[in-house]
Amino acid sequence: MTEAEIADWVRSLSKNERLILATYEGGTCMPESMQRYWNPKALESLVMQDVIRWTMAGYELTEDGVLLAGFIQQKEAQRNQRTAPVGKNDKTATGKQVRFGEPCPICETEIVKIKRETLQHIIDFLAPKFHSVSQRRIKGKSAFIPICPECDAYALGIEFAKGFPFIMKNGQESEIQRIVHLLWVTGKPFRSMGIENGCINSEE
Ligand SMILES: [Zn+2]
Repeated sequence: MTEAEIADWVRSLSKNERLILATYEGGTCMPESMQRYWNPKALESLVMQDVIRWTMAGYELTEDGVLLAGFIQQKEAQRNQRTAPVGKNDKTATGKQVRFGEPCPICETEIVKIKRETLQHIIDFLAPKFHSVSQRRIKGKSAFIPICPECDAYALGIEFAKGFPFIMKNGQESEIQRIVHLLWVTGKPFRSMGIENGCINSEE
């Protein structure tokens, strides 16, 4: 593939597809951090385009995939050089505190909250790397911990049949499987208003 062909292909990708490829760290295996951009549709589309394939070891890039991911990374690095001052380029991923009921500073999804007891279960079962929950909050004493259902979809148990319980801004308890169809919708960040048992209220 020529540089122009790679650029064209990258341009044709959706934002979510590009976000997944942007987690590339070299080699052919995708890092665990790609879970932060876990979007089943985008992932499926990348698999269909033969950019990523699933192996026993995890998600792996094809030869074309390495070219695309490398290209995206290079562009990203150039952009960061121009705009970022010093330090790590992904500081915002964990640097900002999320607040219950407010939009996530990273993805604009409405923040939900989990009980401290649930947080402990998550840590015991998954030992995940949190993207929207800081170490300070994990070690803190507050009874509820705000968490972003998109950024921390993996921690909330998206891969299970039934995930960990959380409370939404509208006061209802839910789990990620019941709202997943409302997450990662382009141009329509998740809001709990008008949701009844995971369904949008038809009277709305
Ligand atoms: Zn988020």
